[in-house]
Amino acid sequence: MKDNLVVFNTLSRKKEAFKSINPHRVGMYVCGPTVYGDPHLGHARPSITFDLIFRYLEHLGYKVRYVRNVTDVGHLENDADEGEDKIAKKARLEQIEPMEVAQYYTDSYHFAMDKLNVKRPSIEPRASGHIIEQMEIVEQILEAGYAYESNGSIYFDVEKYDKNYKYGVLSGRVLEELIANTRTLDGQDEKRNPADFALWKKASPEHIMRWKSPWSVGFPGWHLECSAMSHKYLGDEFDIHGGGMDLLFPHHESEICQSQIAHGQNPAKYWIHNNMITVNGQKMGKSLGNFINLEEFFEGSHKLLEKAYSPMTIRFFILQAHYRSTVDFSNEALQATERGLSRLMQASETLEKLKASDKSTENVQELKSAMYEAMNDDFNTPILIAHLFEAVRIINSVKDNKAYLTETDLNELKSVFNTFVFDILGMKKESDESGSNQITEGLMELILDIRAKAKENKDWTTSDSIRNKLNQLNINVKDTKDGAEWSIEN
Ligand code: ZN
Repeated sequence: MKDNLVVFNTLSRKKEAFKSINPHRVGMYVCGPTVYGDPHLGHARPSITFDLIFRYLEHLGYKVRYVRNVTDVGHLENDADEGEDKIAKKARLEQIEPMEVAQYYTDSYHFAMDKLNVKRPSIEPRASGHIIEQMEIVEQILEAGYAYESNGSIYFDVEKYDKNYKYGVLSGRVLEELIANTRTLDGQDEKRNPADFALWKKASPEHIMRWKSPWSVGFPGWHLECSAMSHKYLGDEFDIHGGGMDLLFPHHESEICQSQIAHGQNPAKYWIHNNMITVNGQKMGKSLGNFINLEEFFEGSHKLLEKAYSPMTIRFFILQAHYRSTVDFSNEALQATERGLSRLMQASETLEKLKASDKSTENVQELKSAMYEAMNDDFNTPILIAHLFEAVRIINSVKDNKAYLTETDLNELKSVFNTFVFDILGMKKESDESGSNQITEGLMELILDIRAKAKENKDWTTSDSIRNKLNQLNINVKDTKDGAEWSIEN
């Protein structure tokens, strides 16, 4: 199976047979979140995409060292070389330490990813913990003559790079056009060329995240952290570099320039990019009011949502599209996914209870090969899921005595179905959770009814004692004009 895996490489713009540089270990680096806000759909897609790839490579028998960074410094507003640091801005607005912002949103990112059943990477390095490694690369690039100092800041010399190496190999952008189309922003007079990018920025007096360097007290440019951390943990060249399509330019393009000069080569053999998410056909944007946080999906608390959608519904919805296609979120589509997912989960329970026959009317081996074929073709999950629904049809037919499987075929179907649904797609059963939630809801309704009756009868001792006992269990009861509301305090 390993030998048949084909992946689309953004670098060559075509599908290539996957061959790991080190057959015993795949190195995979994925650009992680900039931790300054609540995790949203834009975080869920790359995490789930590379979780799928991570899971599948491991399933094929590779050992994978999966590095996904946390950006906690140097990512300026508008992804530019000028403006305030995204994390420092949040810290200023909330009057807390930048590292409190980074910690808080790293935690909430982990919390949301755990719910989505995204496996933690092997290493999760932080940009702020690798300032020395980043300064080393700045020195190497300066020594090689591909960077220059300007007013305490260091910029990468893109024009010189383009003369000796080809600039734009990943994004296909041409330097001349890029220069012609770049607006001159404030502070760009520090740059020799508008296409140059910052490796080190001198900190302005109000800039709070700052480190001492030979050039100035300042901070690293945003693109540098990934060159530094991927090199530290995966070496000069590794197998897969991943991220969202929005990072292709200028972030990944700049990483290639940096690594080429500092480490002598394009760092990754395969560049893999997931496509973007739209909501009701529109690009997500804070100003458009369609920016939905993951917690809002799980709770159904955003005005665009008709109801809550469970983490597995969101995960399955994302996996129903190929990672290189766009995904459009709508209530209608999510509800269709919910119904499909529930059929899939019911079938997995039915499967455990099926009885074998002495003959088979279905070809399980063929179905199994088709599933591997789909995944081996650039992780084609929509085709895989179509085959899983074919398996659902077989399961339900066997249950209704309209189809038959031998003991061997039945065991094979169990193994294949569970492997693809739970291990590779990373789905998990949610029914237990919602079942116990239903019981809690029912019990609370019963208790609050008893309390309401006690209040009606002016039996304050009983009604107060119910409220106090609930408080001891961290359940808050609030009386409203329509009765009482309850909530669990975390
Ligand atoms: Zn990155």
